[in-house]
Amino acid sequence: MRKVDFIITTDRSMMTNHRGKEFLGFMTTSPPIGMPENLWRWIAAPKVPVDEWGRPRQAPYGLRKIEAALQDAGFSAEVIDPDYVKKYITAAKAVLIGHHDYFALNSPSIEYWMLTGKEPLNRKSFLSFIETVAYYKRKYNPKLKIVVGGPAAWQWLYSPTYLEKFMVDTIVEGEADRVIVDLARAIAEGRKTPRYILVGPRDVPGLDEIPVIKGASVNGLIEIMRGCPRGCSFCSVTYKAIRYYPLSKIEAELKVNTSNGVKGGVLHSDDVPLYGARGVTPNVDALERLHRLVKRYYRDFTWSHAALATILYGEERFKLLSRLADLILDENQEYMGFQTGIETGSKRLARRIMPGKSAPYPPEDWPEVVVEAFKLLHEKLFIPAGTIILGLPGETPDDVVKTIELVEELRPYRSLIVPMFFVPLGSLRGEGWFKPIKMTIEHAELLREVMRHTAYWSKDIISRVYMKGIKYTPAKILLIRFISRVEKIAEAIKPEDILYHVENVTGRQAITMTA
Ligand code: SF4
Repeated sequence: MRKVDFIITTDRSMMTNHRGKEFLGFMTTSPPIGMPENLWRWIAAPKVPVDEWGRPRQAPYGLRKIEAALQDAGFSAEVIDPDYVKKYITAAKAVLIGHHDYFALNSPSIEYWMLTGKEPLNRKSFLSFIETVAYYKRKYNPKLKIVVGGPAAWQWLYSPTYLEKFMVDTIVEGEADRVIVDLARAIAEGRKTPRYILVGPRDVPGLDEIPVIKGASVNGLIEIMRGCPRGCSFCSVTYKAIRYYPLSKIEAELKVNTSNGVKGGVLHSDDVPLYGARGVTPNVDALERLHRLVKRYYRDFTWSHAALATILYGEERFKLLSRLADLILDENQEYMGFQTGIETGSKRLARRIMPGKSAPYPPEDWPEVVVEAFKLLHEKLFIPAGTIILGLPGETPDDVVKTIELVEELRPYRSLIVPMFFVPLGSLRGEGWFKPIKMTIEHAELLREVMRHTAYWSKDIISRVYMKGIKYTPAKILLIRFISRVEKIAEAIKPEDILYHVENVTGRQAITMTA
C-alpha cells in the first residue's frame, strides 16, 4: 500500500476547478436556487481529474503551498483528492485541511444563507467531509492529527462545538509556509502540538521562505505579492507585511502550471496594479514586465483583486490601464475580470473606516473615485465585481442611502456588485462576533438595487464574454434561466418584503450559527 505521512486535502466545494471558470465558484457559496442540489453541484463543483493515487491534476493554491513547504523540508506530503483520503488514513500521521469558508461565515455565503434561510453548499459539503475524516480517525487511526488552516481558520475559533466533535488537534491561522514545517516536525516526532497557532509578524515567511508550488493550481492561480498598504480597519490583510515576488519566482510557478497543461490563470494579490509599487503609486515598468511575462505563458488570465484608486490614479498619471489593456487583451482574451472593494458610498464612513482606500485621493472623493474608475473599466473591457458592506460599525441610514445612490450611478457600467454583511476582522475584530445586523428599510432597498444591477449585467457578461463555446452551453442555459428568475424577483419585490424575510431568517439563523 502507498503511504503518505501528511495528507493535504479539503472538501469538494474547494477541490474542483469550477469548470475552468472561477466565477462559477461563487455558486458553491449559495444553497441551490431553482434547481436540484445535484445539478447545482454538477455545475459549480465537478470532480477534478486525479492520477492513479488520487492526486488531483489541479488543487487549490494554498494547499499546493503547504505541500511544497513540506516536501522542500523533506517530508512525505501530498495533496490528495477527498474521495481518496480513506486509502491513506491508517498509515498517515496527519490530515492537513485548508478552506476559504469552512462554515459559510464569510461573504457572500453568509448573505445567501440569511437571505434564503438554507445552508450554502460549501458548508454542507465541508461538514459532510470533516464528519467522514473524524469517523476515519476514530475507527482506523486514533493517533492521526487533524490540522485546519487557510484563510478561514479563524472560523474554528467561533465553532468550539465543531472543534471537539470533529477532533481537530491544531488550528493554524495566518501565513503557514514556515510554521507548518515546525508543526509537521513535532507531529512526526510524536511531540505535543499546540491547539492554536497564530502566525505573528516574527513567524511570517520572508520571500525566500515562500516555496514554489510543485503541482498545478486550480485554474492556474499564482500569487505575485502579499500584503496591502491601504490599511482598511475591517480587513485582515492589513496585518501582512508587503512582499513582491521576483519575476523569477512567478515564472517558476507559471512553468509548473503550463507544464501540467494549464493554459490560463489568475494573478493573485490584494491589489495587482500595486505590484512592485512604492506606497500607492503604481510601478508601470514592473507591471508591464509582469504582464508581458504572464502573457508568454498564459493564453488568458484575470486578476484576483485590484483597488479602484490604484486603477484611476494609474490611468490619470501614467495611462496605466490603457497600457496594460494593450498587453492583456488580444485574440485570446476579450476582457479582464477582478474583484474590488466599493464597501460604501458614504464619504463620512469612508473617512472613518477606510481612509487609505481612496489614496492618493482624499476619502471625501471616494464615491467619485468609484464612479470614474467604473467608467474607465467599462471602456477598457475590464469587469469588476465590487463588494459593498452592510452594517459597518457606526453606519447610519443616511450612509446606506448614499450607497444606494452610488449603486444607481454605477448602473451604466458592466460590473457585478456583491453585498456583504459586516464581519469583524482586521482591527475591528474586537467589535465582537457577528450579530445579525439590524436590517433597516434602507438596507432592504440597497439589496434590491444590488440584485437589479447584478442580474442585469450577469446576463450580459455570461452571454457576451464569459461562457463562449459549445462545452458551456448547458451550464450557460441553466445560469441564464436562474438569473432571469432573480431579475424578475428583483423588479417585483418590495423592500418591506426583503426586510420581513431577512428578519425572519436571521432570528432563526442566530441559533444555528452558535451551535
Ligand atoms: S484595500 Fe482591500 S486588501 Fe487593502 S486593506 Fe483595504 S480591504 Fe484590505
